[in-house]
Amino acid sequence: MSQNSVNHDPVQPRPVVARLPRYAAGKPPVTVPGLQPFKLSSNENPFGPLDEVKEAVREQTDLNRYPDPLCTALREELSGVIDVPAEDIVTGTGSLGALSQVLATFAGQNEDGVQDEVIFAWRSFEAYPIVVNSAGALPVPVPLLEDGRHDLEAMIEAINENTSVILLCTPNNPTGPSLSQQEVDDFLARVPKNVLVVLDEAYIEFVRSPQAVDGAATYRAHKNVLLLRTFSKAHGLANLRVGYSVAHPEITNYIRVVATPFAVSSVAQDAAIASLRHMDKVLERVDSLVVERERVVAALDELGWTIPRTDANFVWLPLGDKTDAFVELADAQALSVRGFTGEGVRVSIGEAEANDRFIELCRENATLLTV
Ligand code: PMP
Repeated sequence: MSQNSVNHDPVQPRPVVARLPRYAAGKPPVTVPGLQPFKLSSNENPFGPLDEVKEAVREQTDLNRYPDPLCTALREELSGVIDVPAEDIVTGTGSLGALSQVLATFAGQNEDGVQDEVIFAWRSFEAYPIVVNSAGALPVPVPLLEDGRHDLEAMIEAINENTSVILLCTPNNPTGPSLSQQEVDDFLARVPKNVLVVLDEAYIEFVRSPQAVDGAATYRAHKNVLLLRTFSKAHGLANLRVGYSVAHPEITNYIRVVATPFAVSSVAQDAAIASLRHMDKVLERVDSLVVERERVVAALDELGWTIPRTDANFVWLPLGDKTDAFVELADAQALSVRGFTGEGVRVSIGEAEANDRFIELCRENATLLTV
């Protein structure tokens, strides 16, 4: 190339980057003198990792070595705990990393220029449009029903010959309801077998609805179903970034080709293994959060607030145009919550004192959701 023909334009991203919504991570709480601040904006586990997990992290010495790229030890441990072949598990940097790998494998722009379409409920996990667009695929958001549940009928109607993946979020972030087994069975019976159906079960340990979908049984029965799970929520390891997908080898063999090498550090892997080996303690903590959740739900119910049935570690307040006002009121109480302007507020279940303060805040502003 001659000197004159050098292009001096600045480096430009792919056009899709300009269209990506920005991920708004949950804010830290505002400092208010005299009040202990609580972060209820990211659905984190308020309990730190188990002592056994901290010990496993402290024992790490070979930080100069790359981790096992296949995360063999963790997959074997998981295989025993959730009763699936280790071969069916692919790990990633959180379940979001696992999902990115799945989309990079099954959804994008094809050689003929046609984009695959990825259907998901909306509002749902806010990273979905980002990772779908980034993969090069076309996001197809389908509005939720009034009560915060997936509109599965409309999702079926959205399927066309370009559909390659459908994301079902159960329980749905940020609204809370889980899908029932019946709903998922009926749905799967109508989905073409060449479409991958992802059940995002980030909050599965918090589910208590008896009719909720059994993800593991569903994936066992269907070659086109994939589960997404994480150590970020129930296990309280959000900072270590470890999650995984579960699907049949016909699916996982392709994902492994695309998966980021060394995505999960040995620190994260050993912490996850230690947590799995003390699952009884993890589930005890989950149970206590579920008790807190039900306490919060009962208090809101008493105030006459109608909120979607939640099976997760958060509640959804459909405050509409009062959303920003509520977020400000919470800030003034040193509680950070997650507002979606014009739609509603998601509040994570936290420490008992945080939940008390949240209930009190709702009591003081009881008319917000009732008028
Ligand atoms: N799926 C859902 C539904 C979520 O709410 C989240 C976290 N907010 C994730 C996936 C990703 O979590 P992680 O990457 O930490 O596993």
